[in-house]
Amino acid sequence: MAMDIAAIRREFPILEREVNGRPLIYLDNTATSQTPREVTDAITRMYTSTKANVHRGVHTLSQEATDLQEATRRRVQKYINAAEPEEVIFTRGTTEAINLVAASYGQRFRDGDEIVLTVMEHHADIVPWQLLRSHADIRIRVAEINDRGEIDLESYGSLFNSRTVMAAFCHVSNVLGTVNPVKDMTAIAHSHGVPVLIDGAQASPHLPIDVRDLDCDFYAFSSHKMYGPTGVGVLYGRRSILEEMPPYQGGGEMIRHVSFGHTTFADLPFRFEAGTPDFVGIAAFASALDFIERVGLENIARHEHELLEYATGRLREIERLQIYGTAPGKSAVISFNVGDIHNYDLGLLLDRMGVAVRTGHHCAQPLMERLGVPGTVRASFAVYNTREEVDAFIAALHRVLAILA
Ligand code: PMP
Repeated sequence: MAMDIAAIRREFPILEREVNGRPLIYLDNTATSQTPREVTDAITRMYTSTKANVHRGVHTLSQEATDLQEATRRRVQKYINAAEPEEVIFTRGTTEAINLVAASYGQRFRDGDEIVLTVMEHHADIVPWQLLRSHADIRIRVAEINDRGEIDLESYGSLFNSRTVMAAFCHVSNVLGTVNPVKDMTAIAHSHGVPVLIDGAQASPHLPIDVRDLDCDFYAFSSHKMYGPTGVGVLYGRRSILEEMPPYQGGGEMIRHVSFGHTTFADLPFRFEAGTPDFVGIAAFASALDFIERVGLENIARHEHELLEYATGRLREIERLQIYGTAPGKSAVISFNVGDIHNYDLGLLLDRMGVAVRTGHHCAQPLMERLGVPGTVRASFAVYNTREEVDAFIAALHRVLAILA
């Protein structure tokens, strides 16, 4: 089915604004995607008609708010094909989801235990594991990549041994766009009896996710990269493993009974949801999933792929331009540098022309070190981007390069 991109764009009012006197060309979708009106309408509707704290009141508003939150939980469960809604834990985002697993599951790790990561991890999937070193001398083993930005499964398997206690990796790299063979990587970790956490922050907006097919133990992602509200994320956890985990944060909602001597904890998923959640954002997240499902993930992915191919071809025409990440089937992210021009200068001047791209290390400093660069410029696409925008981006880049020459 051909998509009516003009009609889709009309659902995103922000795309009509200008930046520095030019029409906005928003190519920073990997950092966060824009939000369609049906999601902002859902937020407004909640604030103007249904705002009340969840799970606390017998009154109508509180029950309605609770119903909306729990409806989103079931919606997410279906979206990722989890076995039960109780396996869906709401967090602030991917970062908090990974911190939750590290802080809670990680309490069982001991001196000399090893965690297998990959060189392309976002800091959100590195630092939480390092923080465990305050209680145990954890070692981190790192899977390397080839020059296209791919992980070799054979050498991946060689990183596991009897001390390995966790494997964590991204589904899609936020810098290289590589779509990792996560099902195979999970099978390798499981063959060593090692649980798996998948950082799905860059996969969930573009790929279908089936946690049961992947057979992963944890899967983390963020609403704000999926056309949804900020402040909402999801940790999927397999029930059997979540049930063995100690609480993450203490407070309201996560308890069964509290006395000064002793506290007993609530069942899943509430045991991991202390305090008032972003129930407005959670409720509105369901509208973002409606949007994605209405447009169709396959249609979104196909459109983004066409833009990726087109933009890659146009960029390759530019002398001294180097693209980082060329794995077949990669996601719609292009990281590049031109000669020895600093990425920051390129980004700043592109912004003067209305083009929003990301610059810097993209929260992946170990990967930058592997690539031998301090940072890159990164253009990334979403469903509402067009070929005309790619043309305007390329034209702006030519102008920038002429200025810097
Ligand atoms: N992992 C990856 C691969 C990401 O791209 C990001 C966001 N840039 C994160 C984790 C962190 O997501 P959040 O900031 O929404 O917690």
